[in-house]
Amino acid sequence: MLAGLSSRYVEVCNKIEVAAERAGRSGARITLLAVSKTFSAESICPLLDLGHVSFAENRVQEAVEKWPALLGAYEGIELHLVGALQSNKVRAAVELFDFIHSLDRERLARRLAEEMRIQAKSLRLFIQINIGEESQKAGVALGELDDFYNYSVSDLGLDVIGLTGIPPYGVNPAPYFALLQKRAVGLGLAHLSMGMSADYETAIAFGADYLRVGTAIFGVRDSQA
Ligand SMILES: *Cc1c(COP(=O)(O)O)cnc(C)c1O
Repeated sequence: MLAGLSSRYVEVCNKIEVAAERAGRSGARITLLAVSKTFSAESICPLLDLGHVSFAENRVQEAVEKWPALLGAYEGIELHLVGALQSNKVRAAVELFDFIHSLDRERLARRLAEEMRIQAKSLRLFIQINIGEESQKAGVALGELDDFYNYSVSDLGLDVIGLTGIPPYGVNPAPYFALLQKRAVGLGLAHLSMGMSADYETAIAFGADYLRVGTAIFGVRDSQA
């Protein structure tokens, strides 16, 4: 198992380097988020032992059960929430995470601002866009992005550092990544959280600097999460 995990991890790191070089970018400025959802603390430890520190989860409750012990055992871990955030989980999310990639509505933005004030913590946030305008997906509509950005940053003072979005399933993701990049540049945002196991090399070509990779590192998940 360990050999499998570490060789998959090294392969992903190498592919990031190659894709970055091809895009004329520095691989050192790209952060690989190991998406550890559904995997136990014991499965995560080998990656921490290899020195990897950036991890992502998609459910607050699962992360709360799993990560505090690991945070006590390893230095320098950075935790990212990449899944939908319900308002009643905001307190726990602000306590545990360093980054949230799913800021997508005004009510959530207000709750986050309030909770970060109470906890005297400032998380770095990505606005999630419903990039394919799919009814089943979360995210701000493209036409509402500018207003939502201004509300979050100017009215609430949130630390929005970038945009994120997941292209529709089964189509060429490149035009969607290009659109996310264009909108980030338009808002003067320096960071793009995009690209998963199937398409992170493509995402790098369009400026992604936070890649969210689960399966390609940990292997296939038992349950769909
Ligand atoms: C699970 C998940 C990922 C990683 O998906 P893989 O295809 O396993 O790399 C990325 N982003 C989000 C929001 C996820 O829930």
